[in-house]
Amino acid sequence: MKSRLHALVPPFETAERDLEPARPARAEVEAAIRTVIRWTGDDPQRDGLIDTPARVARAFQELFAGYGEDPALILQRTFEETEGYDEMIALRGISFTSHCEHHLAPIIGRAWVAYLPRGRVVGISKLARVVEAYAKRLQIQERLTAQIANVIDDVLKPQGVGVIVKATHHCMTTRGVHQPGTDLVTSRMLGCFRDDPLTRQEFLSLVD
Ligand SMILES: [Zn+2]
Repeated sequence: MKSRLHALVPPFETAERDLEPARPARAEVEAAIRTVIRWTGDDPQRDGLIDTPARVARAFQELFAGYGEDPALILQRTFEETEGYDEMIALRGISFTSHCEHHLAPIIGRAWVAYLPRGRVVGISKLARVVEAYAKRLQIQERLTAQIANVIDDVLKPQGVGVIVKATHHCMTTRGVHQPGTDLVTSRMLGCFRDDPLTRQEFLSLVD
């Protein structure tokens, strides 16, 4: 299962190398945004819109900053002086904003990330940064969920990892089928989170 997903999603480094030379210049991006504004029926030259392309470009830089982050690197620094701590570590309700790759519409949600360490423990803020690094890309929620679990599994080599993501997708809450109250729940359980019902249950009891 895990290797199949890895095969579908090229590792970040490869994707980054492939993307980098093709990145257009800032002026090109702003021109494209002016085109979109004209296409909506408005006038990109009017006062209220004249600086919008530059603002949107800056906003995109921030919203898609994840392409410049290597989540594996974020998890590299670990602590080993843990007095043999071997119980579950869970960071609950990590807020994130992502964008769906089908409509560029916001995906707004929270992630619950847990692992059962095997000696190596990572600073807790790093778990939130990993979520953010993957969220600030064009995503589908299923892949976001899998990527978070996989990188923790690959780098920390814990006894198990559990990730649950709950998010609302603006491409279906504010347009399309217009289902404002809905959210999508996805999960990925690896190692003992998948194989041991008690561990899985302990994790699920921490998710609200
Ligand atoms: Zn969408």
